[in-house]
Amino acid sequence: MKITDIRYERLEGEYALSAGQAAARQVGALDIYPEYRSRGTRHPQSEDRDDIVPISEVYVFVDTDEGITGLFGPIYVDQAFQIEMHLRQHLIGRDPLASERLWDVLSRQDRHARKGYMMMAISAIDMCLWDIRGKALGLPVYRLLGGPTRDAVPAYASALGFAIEPDKVYEQAVAFKREGYVAQKWFFPHGPGDGRAGMERNLLIVRTAREAVGNDVDLMFDAWLGWDVNYAVEMGRAMAQYQPRWLEEPVAPDRIGAYAEIRRRAGIPIAGGEHEYTRWGFKVLLDSEAVDVVQADPDWTGGISEMVKICALASAFDKPVIPHGHSVLPALHLIAAQSPETCPWLEYLIKFNPQKQWFHRTKFMPEGGMMRLPDQPGLGIELDEERIQARTTLNWR
Ligand SMILES: [Mg+2]
Repeated sequence: MKITDIRYERLEGEYALSAGQAAARQVGALDIYPEYRSRGTRHPQSEDRDDIVPISEVYVFVDTDEGITGLFGPIYVDQAFQIEMHLRQHLIGRDPLASERLWDVLSRQDRHARKGYMMMAISAIDMCLWDIRGKALGLPVYRLLGGPTRDAVPAYASALGFAIEPDKVYEQAVAFKREGYVAQKWFFPHGPGDGRAGMERNLLIVRTAREAVGNDVDLMFDAWLGWDVNYAVEMGRAMAQYQPRWLEEPVAPDRIGAYAEIRRRAGIPIAGGEHEYTRWGFKVLLDSEAVDVVQADPDWTGGISEMVKICALASAFDKPVIPHGHSVLPALHLIAAQSPETCPWLEYLIKFNPQKQWFHRTKFMPEGGMMRLPDQPGLGIELDEERIQARTTLNWR
């Protein structure tokens, strides 16, 4: 089998927002500046309105001479551009099943391929190659990886974009528990720029969520790169009485010493890694004792191939890998082929994962807090032509 072409398409359609979950924004790295702190939500999905809004997503297609096409998306247009400019020349005419060779070549072909958008581009290609292999052999990807280790995977509810007023947090936390989620994650709205009043409001969210769910549901909290060491240590110590399962990404990902210090001093488990790349990036995090939970994202860190290596590495450190949930399917296939000790849960972003699957014929959503496994060959992404109102080929040639 040989790769004959790589194509990128922008799909356009209309997405139905649902009301009843008022606008919320999470703290971020730019929030040290007042003009950024006062911004509204970044995503229309976070807004409280029943409305139809335009939706547009980019997909990558890897064609072969045997009529099998590997498909992955949504991806960022930046990834498509990197594939076209740097990766394509190393893929055309090559055997797509020899994916270890191709990953190695793609990671060596440019000295900037190690992180960022170029590694995210390699990730997208790796996903297409796994899709091709599954379609060629007639098996879902988790079967090719040695799974399933379970019939279904527990999902945790990730509440990005949900309202963070205490009464709404209480109501929604109870609802997630009732739906069967064993754990739920909330996003802090405030950081150092909001002073002590902001810290009190952050703590109120933690206390309210714990009061809502009792002691038999795990709670996690995400600071989305928006804090500093002292703030994180003070928050961690104040949160400890509510027994969070973890505090996520308190500071920017390269500040590994800061992670380790927060982990030593804050008195609660620390999670991170959704913005880290490859086994080598995670080796530094683990060697530095910077995290208790590894959150590599298959879409960004190097694809499913690299996730398998990161899982092996993390398991040797006895740290769980709970992949970041940028998209559902790659993480689901991976988790379904790992020990439940190594990969206990799937992250499911209640508002955003349905949007990312808008153009997919089969949508993967948890039921009773559990995610069933795909049975389609490959990754399981099939486009729903009825939802595609326009498709544009991206072309930089
Ligand atoms: Mg996060």
